Amino acid sequence: MTTVAVVEDDPRIRAAVCRGLTDRGHVVLAASTGLGALSEIVDHRPDVVVLDLGLPDIDGLELLRMLRAVSAVPVIVATARDDEREIIRTLDAGADDYVVKPYSADQLDARIRAVLRRVKDDEGGAPIQIGALAIHPLSRTVLLEGAPLELSRKEFDLLWHLANRRGEVVSKRELLAAVWRQPYGGAEKTIDVHLSWLRRKLGETANSPRYLRSVRGVGVMLVDPDSP
Ligand code: CA
Repeated sequence: MTTVAVVEDDPRIRAAVCRGLTDRGHVVLAASTGLGALSEIVDHRPDVVVLDLGLPDIDGLELLRMLRAVSAVPVIVATARDDEREIIRTLDAGADDYVVKPYSADQLDARIRAVLRRVKDDEGGAPIQIGALAIHPLSRTVLLEGAPLELSRKEFDLLWHLANRRGEVVSKRELLAAVWRQPYGGAEKTIDVHLSWLRRKLGETANSPRYLRSVRGVGVMLVDPDSP
């Protein structure tokens, strides 16, 4: 049984979403404000959160960032319109997926199942050691020469995806789909920015790479710098 927190201020939409999820066998926690949602989520630890961005007391993206600071719970954002820029900002802020309103209970249910499947896959992974870099998927921690690195959620996801394909060039198209759940087009910059942050944290630069090797026009590869 899955516990879903539904954060939605419109009482009609909230009732319909809660009913749709209950009918599909989920336990539902409902909140109508951002701050109410935050305490509900911290106290009751739902398996997944469905978050409306337009809330009366706090901006949904701001709430998402606050939530990310205290919890890794998967978040599906409900956006009012199919605005690509808003969707990219939302995913960058730590959302796992999104639905565009109005959405059906069946679609939401399918997205919840997909998000939970991905979480389960991630948790099933054993730690990966590449040179002096140790990546622990369960605790989402990364140690470089024994010292912990402070990575954002997306930086970790990016590193974890590359680690699972170590020694292979992974295309930006694949990274965008796997880490950002985005189709290609216009968002390549997002990857470049996150790669450069990740490089800095790994103590390297694009011009003198160690772990992260870019292959121009193809993609990027994670390697053990001390292995021939
Ligand atoms: Ca709203």
